[in-house]
Amino acid sequence: MPVQYKDYYESLGVPRTASADDLKKAFRKLAREFHPDVAKNKKQAEERFKEINEAYEVLSDPAKRKKYDELGPNWKSGADFRPPPGWGSFGRGGASAGRGPGGAGDEFQFDGTGFSAFFEQLFGSRGGRGAAGFGRGGGFAEEEMGAERGQDIEGDIMVTLEEAVRGSVRSVSVRHAVACEQCGGAGQRNRRPCGACGGAGQVAKTETYQVKIPAGVTEGQRLRIAGRGEAGAGGGAAGDLYLRVRLARHPDFEVQDHNLIYEAEVAPWEAVLGTSISVPTLTGHVSIKVPPGTQNGQKLRVRGRGLPQRGGGSGDLIVETRVEVPKRITDSERKLWEQLARESHFNPRE
Ligand SMILES: [Zn+2]
Repeated sequence: MPVQYKDYYESLGVPRTASADDLKKAFRKLAREFHPDVAKNKKQAEERFKEINEAYEVLSDPAKRKKYDELGPNWKSGADFRPPPGWGSFGRGGASAGRGPGGAGDEFQFDGTGFSAFFEQLFGSRGGRGAAGFGRGGGFAEEEMGAERGQDIEGDIMVTLEEAVRGSVRSVSVRHAVACEQCGGAGQRNRRPCGACGGAGQVAKTETYQVKIPAGVTEGQRLRIAGRGEAGAGGGAAGDLYLRVRLARHPDFEVQDHNLIYEAEVAPWEAVLGTSISVPTLTGHVSIKVPPGTQNGQKLRVRGRGLPQRGGGSGDLIVETRVEVPKRITDSERKLWEQLARESHFNPRE
């Protein structure tokens, strides 16, 4: 199934030669502008935020960026994308071979997960599904009787850090095979092939489910939505739908386990004399003390302001200080620095 090619460089407004630093800057600027929590038009901003996030997830990861760049001559912006031959991870590969006869024919498709179909094909988890032990579940006893359990479906879902803290409910659409209503999945009516499904017993249908994202979800965690996978054959049970959590990148924070890392710029005199500064958290700003004699790169811990942990408690917000030096100073400032230079006994190389 062809999917729409995504120009990730265009999404971030950077040239294809952009450095890692350029990408980070572009992402931060756009992610701040379009973050659903701050934007005026939330719905529109959310779409854009997800697009920016997807682009940054790919381009900020050297391996993914390389894979993406290798598409080179095979893509044309705005055109449908067909995977070049030999792309092992494309499509369902071997997994589709294992499906029951007939089936709905179509590849399953997601909507509302935050990732594009293009991303899912290139980097999503569906390609590795069979190898990862998903695919068809057990049920050999059933198979002997002609019944076959439907396949599990797995996809990625982008979850913002705010959602990970508060929890949320998301509307996810899946186009997948469901049992034919006319023949109840048997494929036959009155000993003749069912006209509605052509005898396959299954039809492709887009269904929308409300998926609960519990507070405290972590990167890579799988949310299981029972019975929402592919329809079974011959009266077999439907498979399950698995959504793998991918935490969205945040313009202000890096995630390290359950901790959030925030970089705070401080002036040299603030680092020397100490001060109080206001720093953002996922639930509003807090004021923290920068103690006298704070070094560049020193870590200040705000307990409990990180991501929630399953089973209770939260990680910490870790504020990493970066001492910024003024690039330009006035004449009177210069006099003060010169006076400091004369009077100070501090020698950093001693
Ligand atoms: Zn039917």
